[in-house]
Amino acid sequence: MYFTEEHESFRQSFREFLQKEVVPHIDKWEKTGTVERFIWKKFGEMGYFGINQPEEYGGMNLDLFYTVIFLEELQKINSGGFAANMWAHGYLAMTHLNKEGDDRIKREYLAPSIEGDKIGCLCITEPFGGSDVAGMRTTAVKKGDTYVLNGSKTFITNGVYSDYLVVVAKTNPEDKYKGMSIFVVDRDTPGISATKLDKLGWRASDTAEIAFDNVVIPAENLMGEEGKGFPYVMQHFALERLVMGINAHARADYAVEYAVKYMEERVAFGKSLDRFQVLRHKIAEMASRVDMCREYNYSIAKRLNDGVYVVKEASMSKLLSTKMADEVIYEALQLLGGYGYMEEYPMARLLRDSRLGPIGGGTSEILKEIIAKMVIDKKEYKPAT
Ligand SMILES: Cc1cc2nc3c(=O)[nH]c(=O)nc-3n(C[C@H](O)[C@H](O)[C@H](O)COP(=O)(O)OP(=O)(O)OC[C@H]3O[C@@H](n4cnc5c(N)ncnc54)[C@H](O)[C@@H]3O)c2cc1C
Repeated sequence: MYFTEEHESFRQSFREFLQKEVVPHIDKWEKTGTVERFIWKKFGEMGYFGINQPEEYGGMNLDLFYTVIFLEELQKINSGGFAANMWAHGYLAMTHLNKEGDDRIKREYLAPSIEGDKIGCLCITEPFGGSDVAGMRTTAVKKGDTYVLNGSKTFITNGVYSDYLVVVAKTNPEDKYKGMSIFVVDRDTPGISATKLDKLGWRASDTAEIAFDNVVIPAENLMGEEGKGFPYVMQHFALERLVMGINAHARADYAVEYAVKYMEERVAFGKSLDRFQVLRHKIAEMASRVDMCREYNYSIAKRLNDGVYVVKEASMSKLLSTKMADEVIYEALQLLGGYGYMEEYPMARLLRDSRLGPIGGGTSEILKEIIAKMVIDKKEYKPAT
C-alpha cells in the first residue's frame, strides 16, 4: 500500500550499504562510543542525509516512506546508538535548519550536513528538567548584533563530536512559552564545553552535557522569529515521535525475526524450539503486536506526508510502539535462554538500547498528558505559523 518498486530498490541498496560499510565497524563503535567521521561522509556521498531535504541544497526531496525505510533498516543492524547518531543529525538538527533557517543558514549548515561534512545536534533538554521544555533556564541575551548564550544542556545526542549545535534558549525569560528562540551555533565558538556521558545503552552514540559560558554568536544565527522557539520545537516533535515509533516497530520486528530463526535451530527435549506450542503462541502474539504498530505507524507516516499535523497520532505511535518494543524484545531474549544474555548474541544490546524509547523525545508520561488533553479536554494543537 505504501511502498513502490523504487522504495523497495532503495531499501535493498541501503541494506547492502549498511552490511558492507557499517556493520563491520559496529562492535568497535559500541566500545568507543565514537562513530568515525568517514562513515558520516559516506552517508553524505550516498545521499542518505538528503532524502527528505530540498534539492536546491543538495537533497532529493523524496516522500516520507524513504525516511521510513532509512529508519527501519538502521534498526535492523542492531546498534540503537549508531542509528541515533544518524537520525538525530538528519531528523532533529537538520529539520530545524530546513524549516526555520534562512537561505544563508541553509547554505552554510544544511548543505554541508546533507554532504556529511558537518554534523549537527539538537539541544533542548537541560539538567534542571527535560519534560518541562518551557521551564528551561538557558538564556540568549541580545547585545548589539550578537546574542550571548549562558546555561547548560544535557543528554544531547551528537553533543560531543558535532560541528554545530541547534540550541533552544530563552530570549525573554519572563515569558514562559513565548520567550524561547532557536539558534544555530558553531561548535568552536569560545565558551562552549562538552562532557561525554556514560549510559546504559545507545553505546555507539555520543551523549553529552554541554555548558555555554558567555558564548557570543552573531544575531543572524537566530532561526525563524524571536520568541517562536517553543512552537517550533513542539511542531517538530510530531516527526521526532513518529521516528521513534517507527524505530520501535523495526527493532521489535528484528527481535522476532531473530528469535524465530534461533528457535528453528535450537533443539530441546529432542525437538526444535519452534515445535513447542507455548513458544509458538508467544511468537504469534509478538508478531501480531509488531504488525499492529507497524501498520499504524505507516498510516500516520502517510498522513504526515500528506501535510496533516499528526500531534496526537505521533504521540500515540511513540507511546505504544516503544512499550511494545520493550516487551517484545524482553520476550525474545527469553526465547534464547542463556544465549539471550550473552553479548555475542544480539538481544542483550537490543534490550538495553530499546529502553530509551519510552524516555527520549518526550517520556511516555508526557505523551499520555498530551493525548489525554486532546481526547478528554478536546484541546487542539496547531503548527507554528
Ligand atoms: C540517550 C539519550 C539521548 C537524548 N538525546 C537528546 C537530544 O539529542 N536532545 C535533547 O534535547 N534531549 C535529549 N534527550 C533528553 C530526553 O528527551 C529527556 O531525557 C526526556 O525528555 C525527559 O526529561 P528528563 O530526563 O529531564 O526527565 P524529567 O523531566 O525530570 O522527568 C523525570 C520523570 O518524571 C516524569 N514526569 C515529568 N513531568 C511529568 C508530568 N507532568 N506528569 C507525569 N510525569 C512527569 C517523567 O515522565 C519521568 O518519568 C536524550 C536523553 C537520553 C537518555
